[in-house]
Amino acid sequence: MDKHQRLIWLTEQVNKHNKNYYVYDNPTISDAEYDALYYELVDLEKELGYSLPSSPTNRVGDDVLEGFKKKKHDIPLYSLNKVKDFDDLNKWILDMQKAAGKQQEFTLEYKYDGLKIVIEYENGLYKSATTRGNGIIGEDVTVQVKTIKSVPLTIPCKSRIIVQGECMMTNKSFIEYNKTAEIPLKNARNGVAGAVRNLDPKETERRKLDFFCYDILLIEGKQLNTQEEMHNFIIEQGFKTGNYFKIVKNITEAKEEIERIDKIKDNIDVMIDGMVIKINNCSVREDIGYTNKFPKWAMAFKFKPVELSTTLKDVVWQVGRTGKITPIAILDPIELSGATVSRATLNNAQDIQRKDVYINSRVFVRRSNEVIPEVMGIAEHQPNEKAIISPTHCPSCNNPLKTIGANLFCVNHKGCLEQIIDRLTHFVSRDAFNIDGLRDKTIKLFYEKFKIAYPYELFKLKKEMLEGLEGFKEKKINNIIESIEKSKNVDWQNFIFALGILNIGKKNAYVLSQKFKNLDELKQADLNTLIAIDDVGEIVANSIIEYFNDEDNLININKLFELGVKINHNQQETINSIFTNKTVVLTGTLSSYTRPDLTKILQKMGANVSSSVSKNTNYVIAGVEAGSKLTKAQELNIKIIEEPELLSILKDYNI
Ligand SMILES: [Zn+2]
Repeated sequence: MDKHQRLIWLTEQVNKHNKNYYVYDNPTISDAEYDALYYELVDLEKELGYSLPSSPTNRVGDDVLEGFKKKKHDIPLYSLNKVKDFDDLNKWILDMQKAAGKQQEFTLEYKYDGLKIVIEYENGLYKSATTRGNGIIGEDVTVQVKTIKSVPLTIPCKSRIIVQGECMMTNKSFIEYNKTAEIPLKNARNGVAGAVRNLDPKETERRKLDFFCYDILLIEGKQLNTQEEMHNFIIEQGFKTGNYFKIVKNITEAKEEIERIDKIKDNIDVMIDGMVIKINNCSVREDIGYTNKFPKWAMAFKFKPVELSTTLKDVVWQVGRTGKITPIAILDPIELSGATVSRATLNNAQDIQRKDVYINSRVFVRRSNEVIPEVMGIAEHQPNEKAIISPTHCPSCNNPLKTIGANLFCVNHKGCLEQIIDRLTHFVSRDAFNIDGLRDKTIKLFYEKFKIAYPYELFKLKKEMLEGLEGFKEKKINNIIESIEKSKNVDWQNFIFALGILNIGKKNAYVLSQKFKNLDELKQADLNTLIAIDDVGEIVANSIIEYFNDEDNLININKLFELGVKINHNQQETINSIFTNKTVVLTGTLSSYTRPDLTKILQKMGANVSSSVSKNTNYVIAGVEAGSKLTKAQELNIKIIEEPELLSILKDYNI
């Protein structure tokens, strides 16, 4: 293919994927793959010095749908120029400093991965909403956007005002929606486009969207001098802002902040795919000006992709510690946010059906920080697809499988090797009994030699039994025996985690350990008590109840105690942290923790949690809608920690 042919091919491809995405709500490649095609086209057009009339680079945005009323924007909307790495960002920052003739402040904001909307207010009243469209003409979505709860219908400002922002579906709304949706959404972003550009406003409402405002395009009779002033004005008018805004002065500060957000972005409840960096001062912006596509004084920094498409080559069925059988997709390996991914979970047979995926399908795969990669759904069907067939017998022990709820289970708990290895590996892991020196291989050996299938049986191991085992020298034997002995004194929260109750992770175990004083209380908890706890839903609550209703589990727990296990309920020993001996005040609402839970965590980290801000306060942790305490903290120049930073701190201490 020569370069001209490549140009034609790229133009066709990009146009096709544009349409799949925006018109049909059905992307067949990931955003990162789309970007790669788009930028190759941009580069090639530059190199050849021409573009085709149909080239997607000749217009600012996307096609306008038939069926919606078209509307011309009073203020044309620009797109943002993008950089791929910190070298390019540094170059841009230096260029801006030079063009401005002096040191500049830059603002950092989230780059939302949603649908851009402009909203007009007149006389303090919501008047209209329009999609971005191609930047010149958009679609009238006044009735649809009105259903979004975070769009204020009245604002204090009485001048005519046009704001720009992003319609988003939070991860929480996305998961909720997909629980009952006939056709599940592929991702949260896809759900937004379909919801706003929907001729039925009821559907918009059903998807529980949010609107995050970040720009004022027009405000009659008022001058805003900086982005910071604009941001504060937006908050005063009652818009949601995502609770994030930072000012940086150079590449070092910008890089540090961007890298920090990249690390914690999965904990933020909306999808962001990068950061937007702008010159703070508005009059400097006017001097620097615009190209015909974008402002020269703003730049987008894109994060490395976390979702890509690849071929699903095969499915293996893995046996977990509870006997649950999980389908694992074997993939054509891909690089995803810095790691090679060749396996991803498909959750269960029902999920496979819902996601409409087959062997040989091209599928979307997503990898988030510290979460196992997951097949998200179909990217594109292929002619040679084969159905994924659920097993009838256990792949490890060949016992017939049982269907419980949406999942398949092997109930041969005593004799299924894969299950036993997984169960014991979980039990000895760091957040459970923390027994060193027991790897898969050793656990397998102990099963073969001593028929150890349940955790309690580990406590029956004697030094003499290990002597004579191949590869077991005196030192190794002593270490194992000592480690097992030491583990008998176990913290309450580790004990709960170690039980291996279905759906109970580290965080849930911690929450339960705070709520229930001892095992008897936890055993007796009924459904209502359990679901009243934050973070405990019906599925988790039922898992707990079922676990304690199973006579075998109770017998196994009792055996642990008979063999000398003691639960340590005195967990008040605090850990040394940046909060140790500091006075901390909480204000506003956090999405990850309730105030009582966070108070307990902070106390464990050595903090003195106080209810009012004074000059003795060291930190103020500010959530959404933080009120007078935040203002006071700002006046007193007290360090304010917002939720993303807090989550990153907690993560540093393994909380
Ligand atoms: Zn089995």
